[in-house]
Amino acid sequence: MQLMSKLPSAFIERMKNRLPENEFDSFLVAYKSETFPSIRLNPSKKKEIFSNEKSIPWFENGKYLAEKKQFITDPLWHAGAYYVQEPSSMILGEILQRIYPNIKPQRALDLCAAPGGKSTLLQSLLDENSVLIANEVIKPRAQILKENHIRLGISENIIITQNDPKDFSGFEEFFDYIQVDAPCSGEGMFRKDTVALREWSEANCQLCSERSKRILGNILPGLAKDGYLVYSTCTFNTKENEELVSWACEEFDLSSLRFDFPKSWGITEIEFKGGFGYYFYPHKVKGEGLFVSVVKKNSGLGLLPVPPFKKEKNIQVPELTESKNIIQEKEKLVWETEELRTVKNFISKRLNIVYSGIELGEMKGKDFIPAQALASFYKHLHIFPEVDVEAETTLQFLRGNDPQLDLDEKGIYLLTYQNLGLGFVKFIGNRSNNYYPKPWRIKNY
Ligand code: SAM
Repeated sequence: MQLMSKLPSAFIERMKNRLPENEFDSFLVAYKSETFPSIRLNPSKKKEIFSNEKSIPWFENGKYLAEKKQFITDPLWHAGAYYVQEPSSMILGEILQRIYPNIKPQRALDLCAAPGGKSTLLQSLLDENSVLIANEVIKPRAQILKENHIRLGISENIIITQNDPKDFSGFEEFFDYIQVDAPCSGEGMFRKDTVALREWSEANCQLCSERSKRILGNILPGLAKDGYLVYSTCTFNTKENEELVSWACEEFDLSSLRFDFPKSWGITEIEFKGGFGYYFYPHKVKGEGLFVSVVKKNSGLGLLPVPPFKKEKNIQVPELTESKNIIQEKEKLVWETEELRTVKNFISKRLNIVYSGIELGEMKGKDFIPAQALASFYKHLHIFPEVDVEAETTLQFLRGNDPQLDLDEKGIYLLTYQNLGLGFVKFIGNRSNNYYPKPWRIKNY
């Protein structure tokens, strides 16, 4: 059955009342059309790939793909050269470039971050010294978030937490940037997400709206004076969008920002009590449905200063580049900058940190066993020799098998594909041990 005929009648009725008369039919017809396969290039692993594909109008590094692609068997996807992301959500890139033309935020929070599309996009536009906390409340999703950040390997200044928004309520003016991509009724995703369609009801929209209100109520005291909040959903429901932003502006002394996006982009501006919001409707943009609104905090004392947290002693491991950033955390060695350590020290008593910095590896007796993050990180922090391999060998490795390598000397090697780090192997003479993490391995392909 066609998707159009499955749309809930209450939803259709609401959209009919909401959209201009001459747009409603094309809105419905858009539900018949295919979605747009697209990816976002990872600028820290710059590669001449997808160069013939058309850029997304609002984000140059975002590319529409001419046809659907199987990413799971593409070594460049595993090497973090790009991230699969739907086009509309990349508007965040344009917004960030507009609100931060020069100075970037020091402490950024992505509160609802999994699987990581918007947080890895944010991370790619921050400064080297900005610290990003990417949070996800649902445990298995927090693991996916961690995996995606590690694979893209954009910056060492990352902390992944797994907390409920209420756990952030004690952080007064701690962040100068917050993004909330709220869990929502998903009306804009009906083409892609059959679960959202099946679970849709007016009552569920109401619940989503109440949940988003709680989320914003918990997090907004944490935004510093002059800091920005980017609030987004993938639904068209005013209760989850305009009404909430209006409420937040009044309750927390926020001002809404207006953007003059080019008309040709097809984005619909909405003015409502106290603010502006931007809708991506499927009949007007080549992307899925989205709502976004940006607000700035007017009052407060400004970003909370936190004294630097210095570490005591330096650790050196022969296999790693010498640096004061190497620390020992239980049995693990981790790369941690002073900015990161300072933030981490401050939040660690109240938040559940599942990952931070760059995991380097661990000592097993006298041997150093490298971690996957060391292979995926865009900077070289180790001195292992590298072997660049063809796609077929790469796939053997990514499936967890023993890749056929033409090596003479025993030892640990970094396997690369087109010079991007994929993972480590230990060559032991007649075969090698595969260090690619078990949960990451390609199954059934
Ligand atoms: N920003 C993500 C991205 O770009 O990849 C997508 C986020 S998705 C729209 C919303 C996220 O909020 C989901 O990962 C979901 O697990 C999480 N979530 C669900 N309930 C929540 C709650 N009560 N508080 C905060 N986050 C919640």
